[in-house]
Amino acid sequence: MRILISGAGVAGLTLAYWLEKHGHEPIIVEKSADIRTEGYMIDFTGTGWDVAERMGLIPVIRERANPAENVIYKNGQDKVTAQVSVQKLLEAGGGNNFVALNRRDLVLTLYESVRDKVEICFGKSIEGLTQSIDHVEVTFSDGSSDRFDLHIGCDGIHSNTRKLVFGPASDFVHHLGYQFAIFQISPLQYDLARSYQMHVIPNLQVAVYPTTPDKWLVFVLFKHDSPAVPFQKDRISLLKERLEGLEWYVPEILDKINDGDYVFQDTLTQVQMAQWHKGRVGIIGDAAYCPTLISGQGASMAMAGAYFLAQAFEQCESHEDAFQMMDAQLRPHIDKIQASARSFASTFVPKSYMRMALINVVLRLSNASIFRSLVGKQITVNSILPAK
Ligand SMILES: Cc1cc2nc3c(=O)[nH]c(=O)nc-3n(C[C@H](O)[C@H](O)[C@H](O)COP(=O)(O)OP(=O)(O)OC[C@H]3O[C@@H](n4cnc5c(N)ncnc54)[C@H](O)[C@@H]3O)c2cc1C
Repeated sequence: MRILISGAGVAGLTLAYWLEKHGHEPIIVEKSADIRTEGYMIDFTGTGWDVAERMGLIPVIRERANPAENVIYKNGQDKVTAQVSVQKLLEAGGGNNFVALNRRDLVLTLYESVRDKVEICFGKSIEGLTQSIDHVEVTFSDGSSDRFDLHIGCDGIHSNTRKLVFGPASDFVHHLGYQFAIFQISPLQYDLARSYQMHVIPNLQVAVYPTTPDKWLVFVLFKHDSPAVPFQKDRISLLKERLEGLEWYVPEILDKINDGDYVFQDTLTQVQMAQWHKGRVGIIGDAAYCPTLISGQGASMAMAGAYFLAQAFEQCESHEDAFQMMDAQLRPHIDKIQASARSFASTFVPKSYMRMALINVVLRLSNASIFRSLVGKQITVNSILPAK
């Protein structure tokens, strides 16, 4: 089949890999001029790990991993309030299939696995789409048009395919009341070694991680009732306003960002849709079922959807049956992940000092040997792929 994929992110690249492997002709259109390499650290484990293993990508992923050995919480005076040793937790939980990885390195690894085999059109997106009984007719932003057997939307939380085929974002997108911003700075004067350090106050979290010797990533998560993301040109000044007066490394971080620096900013939202297909159009990844970044499973579930859908096309007589098979395999897990991410949101950015103190106690307990194996097992999330 000739299958149009929109979005060269985690879902789109994984889907293209499996479709090509099964003898189909996937074609990707990506709105950006190149592969998007922004993003922060992601926990890569569970289903995503298993899919990557079946793609033969684990050696490269291990090589590119950024091992965060400790997660350290600090107060305004740079004193440790809680510390979690990721390595000890992993050892206790018996999990070896886990790495902390920059999103950029996952996307680049997936891109390298398809770029010589699959046509990827950068700087192009879908403008219009009509379906008939046996094909999908698509017009593109460059004025061209083409015909495909199927179209799969993999274009992230602000999906254009979802809008064109299923309805407006407001029907499916649920804002959890937070926004996050990610940007790079030159290193601060402190030696963080391989630790991921966080300063949390009610309704706001600032984290830094030294990704390379000359670049550190900064992540800011804050309570924000509106889902409207500010324009790029306004993001630095708004962030500076929001972080003004905070202690810890924040004043030095603010000194290192300049007007005009790039800030990736988005909302913490979940996407909930009763159906992930309509006729010859399907939708997977964040576009269809974004669990939010605090679930830690967005990339994994995007890869799961891609893998299940490509397998279903092999096993089913028709595309309708294939879409339904994927839905049945994936939906129960997505429902659970989304429910637990909603309840985890207030732990990630506690609303009060009382709740913060409680979380610190729990974090300290997680280091105690009796709890270590329990928490360690939680880090290496189970895969939902059936055994081969
Ligand atoms: C720049 C960026 C940074 C991110 N940073 C983090 C992070 O730090 N931590 C984390 O947990 N998650 C992050 N995410 C989300 C994470 O990548 C996803 O949760 C997960 O990987 C699901 O992948 P996806 O392929 O469904 O969506 P995405 O990875 O979001 O990919 C969607 C792709 O579709 C493209 N696209 C969008 N609109 C169109 C269109 N109209 N036509 C064609 N292409 C389009 C986008 O440019 C993008 O390449 C980030 C996403 C992006 C895009």
